[in-house]
Amino acid sequence: MSKMVLGCIADDFTGATDLANNLVRAGMRVVQTIGVPSAPLAADVDAVVVALKSRTIAPADAIAQSLDAMKWLQAQGAQQIYFKYCSTFDSTAAGNIGPVTEALMDALGSDFTIATPAFPDNKRTVFKGYLFVGDVLLNESGMQNHPLTPMTDPNLVRVLQAQTKREVGLIDHTVVARGADAVRERIAELRNDGVGVAVVDAVSNDDLLRLGPALAAMPLVTAGSGVAIGLPANFGIEPSSQASALPPAKGLQAVVSGSCSIATNRQVMNFIQTGRPAMAIDPLRIASGVDVTAEVLAWAAPLLADGPVLVYSTAETSAVKSVQGRLGVEEAGAMVERTIAAIARGLVALGVRQLVVAGGETSGACVQALGVTQMQIGPQIDPGVPWCHALAAAADGAGVHLTLKSGNFGADDFFTKAFKVLA
Ligand code: ADP
Repeated sequence: MSKMVLGCIADDFTGATDLANNLVRAGMRVVQTIGVPSAPLAADVDAVVVALKSRTIAPADAIAQSLDAMKWLQAQGAQQIYFKYCSTFDSTAAGNIGPVTEALMDALGSDFTIATPAFPDNKRTVFKGYLFVGDVLLNESGMQNHPLTPMTDPNLVRVLQAQTKREVGLIDHTVVARGADAVRERIAELRNDGVGVAVVDAVSNDDLLRLGPALAAMPLVTAGSGVAIGLPANFGIEPSSQASALPPAKGLQAVVSGSCSIATNRQVMNFIQTGRPAMAIDPLRIASGVDVTAEVLAWAAPLLADGPVLVYSTAETSAVKSVQGRLGVEEAGAMVERTIAAIARGLVALGVRQLVVAGGETSGACVQALGVTQMQIGPQIDPGVPWCHALAAAADGAGVHLTLKSGNFGADDFFTKAFKVLA
């Protein structure tokens, strides 16, 4: 039986890993599951993060999936539920942050919770209820042009109020700066005034650590990954290197990359400059029917014994646009994801047991292809990106070390540094 105390529900896949990483760094032993598990928890851990893909689906579906996750987490012993969303508060006009928060509050019989995407380590700060990304407001950060969740209002009280029937209030920085008692007093005041959800200011990790004790015993916390650094202490858990301990790494090493972000382009260049073997995948050749997976695996097989290889579809924006123009945006994306996932499965069949995957959607496709249902979270490589360990059907049930890097995370040398961290 596990002694799980904190149950988390994340609205996307790499966001779940980001939250798990912060909990591990604060001392919790954490498992991340891909969707709501069908069986009871087998691992002995302090927290579980259930990764959903509910950010942009219909609110009713997001609510149903989140409630399923909540019930499973409660059945495993969770004393507190943490609903995790993006540090840029990614949501559509209809939700899903407001509707899911409301549904979880109803189900937990809770009349008050907080909401803050603050993640100072990644330059997301909240002041007077306004969300900053680096030095600019959310609606000037590029997020105003996001294809699925354009964020045009930086005032989170207004954004959240538009998504929920509960009254939304603010716990501002003058309160947070005075510490947990001041926050508790302010919460009592807001409750009296009928406020159900309070946006909380935080501009530093110190703010988040001051906030933590005031959240003890709150049935539901909603936040980005930042608030997680202040919660483990409420359960008597302190940072320890034991929390991130994974089984020893063995086997061959490889990197697959389907991300076309600026950071990943730099990481691919950096790996190639080290002189290690790298092979590019051309989406147009896949589309023309060439068995690119077989080609790549035949190329990689004799090289793997000498160290990590890189397989990438990563390309500059102009090249991606040209491919998308010929194949269609979604078709190109899905086709490349399928190919990289098949390559990842083939590499594991060749004996790869340490695999770096770059790209959020690409990671989802690879984890599915490898037959992974849950991952234990290990040491951080760069902010937001830890190594994980999973039993993979593609490895006949053996353990594989995986790291899933969302596009813009990681330093330029991430693809070589990752293996050093594991060694
Ligand atoms: P990120 O985390 O950087 O957003 P994702 O994996 O989530 O990375 O998304 C990248 C998308 O681009 C995927 O759907 C992937 O299949 C697609 N893609 C990758 N390489 C190419 C390419 N060369 N041309 C067109 N689309 C590509």
